[in-house]
Amino acid sequence: MTPAPPLPGERFDAVIVGAGAAGLSLACHLADAGWGDKVLIVDDASHPLEARSWAWWSKGTGLLDSAASVEVRHLRVAGGGWRRTQALEPYSYRRITGPELSAETDRIIGARPGYRRVVGSARALAREGAGCRVLIDVPEPGGARTVEVSARWVFDSVGLGVPSASPASAAYLDFHGLHIECPTDVFDPGTATLMDFRTDQTAGAAFVYVLPTSARSALVERTVFAFSDTYDRGLHGARHEDHVRDYIGAHVRAGAYKVTGREVGTIPLQRGPAPTPKGPVIPIGATAGMVRASTGYGFARIQRHSAAIASCLARGRHPASAAPARRWSRALDDALLRVIREDRTAAVELFATLFTRNPAPRILAFLEEEASPLSQIALCVTLPVGPFLRAQVRAATGTRAANPRVPYAESDTVSHPSR
Ligand SMILES: Cc1cc2nc3c(=O)[nH]c(=O)nc-3n(C[C@H](O)[C@H](O)[C@H](O)COP(=O)(O)OP(=O)(O)OC[C@H]3O[C@@H](n4cnc5c(N)ncnc54)[C@H](O)[C@@H]3O)c2cc1C
Repeated sequence: MTPAPPLPGERFDAVIVGAGAAGLSLACHLADAGWGDKVLIVDDASHPLEARSWAWWSKGTGLLDSAASVEVRHLRVAGGGWRRTQALEPYSYRRITGPELSAETDRIIGARPGYRRVVGSARALAREGAGCRVLIDVPEPGGARTVEVSARWVFDSVGLGVPSASPASAAYLDFHGLHIECPTDVFDPGTATLMDFRTDQTAGAAFVYVLPTSARSALVERTVFAFSDTYDRGLHGARHEDHVRDYIGAHVRAGAYKVTGREVGTIPLQRGPAPTPKGPVIPIGATAGMVRASTGYGFARIQRHSAAIASCLARGRHPASAAPARRWSRALDDALLRVIREDRTAAVELFATLFTRNPAPRILAFLEEEASPLSQIALCVTLPVGPFLRAQVRAATGTRAANPRVPYAESDTVSHPSR
């Protein structure tokens, strides 16, 4: 049965604005914690879930872990002249699609009759006592009706109540992926290639990612660390697909593969501090700075934030305290992005050192902000300090490294397979 749209003046314990990764995850965590008698989840369908998916690392104990249809336990990393495959234990790498996340949310919130997921566009928020009024445009045959509801808490994933963490981000990941189907078994479904730097590095530090969905099918995706003053998305992005096909031709024994779909997009890498929650309006998701600036991953942070908000509310505490300050992670992300921007050759070498001199669980614990101080020190001492210092000096003096061509394939010549 379709949930009833909100009525004018209706009161809720919480309104969740946006039902993407963060809104749906939070709804699941709140429902699972048994919190809230009336919760409204509203999405304007501007970013449909059908074509979306999220990958993340976890130890298998997360609320949404079992809903992921892809789970791999080994990760491969490679570059010109080096490669490494490692077991991830105790972590595994999972991918959940938008429809899977949607179905799991409906299952979890289905146990709480006061939770309603509706279509509508949230337009404005206004403080009212300890709570908040929310204006929502609800679609109707022939137009939309504006409804004003009130809520004790508003969880905002679209930036209505606060400015976004960094609206004019100059750094972003530009990616282009092909879903391919091969005539024979070529992939190991238990192993994903997280980063393979054997791809053209002319436009910026770039890597290829391969996520098998079966022995014959995979997503092969190329990502460039892009900076708006040096990267021309029209020009460089247009060559993405050629580079993906070059990679498949050179490194995947794919035969006469078929392209069954494409994933193309950008992920802004927000570098500033997250906005401070104001009263009853709590930012969540990308708006709350949950996307890590050095990697573009945000789903695992979103899960931790959602669980922490649910725990705060269940204990009667203010949910603003659920988001950690992350000064250390931000400083590291900033330093790494500076190296990637100033000297992409050094950046690729840095990634090679990181991956070849540290066990995968240590790297993942570090990326997941779960590493002990000792483990963080152990990881940091494996990294060369030179690139960080040089990048800092270059940033301060406005000079750039020459960025000679990074060797990206054993032969460095690749042929285009027939399309
Ligand atoms: C292309 C892309 C791929 C990514 N892949 C990964 C990944 O694989 N792994 C990972 O860890 N991180 C990934 N990220 C980073 C991060 O996890 C995602 O950006 C994540 O979707 C952020 O969640 P969110 O809820 O903040 O935003 P979204 O998931 O975008 O959700 C926002 C929702 O708000 C709705 N909306 C917008 N305006 C309104 C309005 N006025 N009223 C009501 N609803 C509205 C939209 O329809 C949308 O559903 C990716 C980011 C991008 C951009």
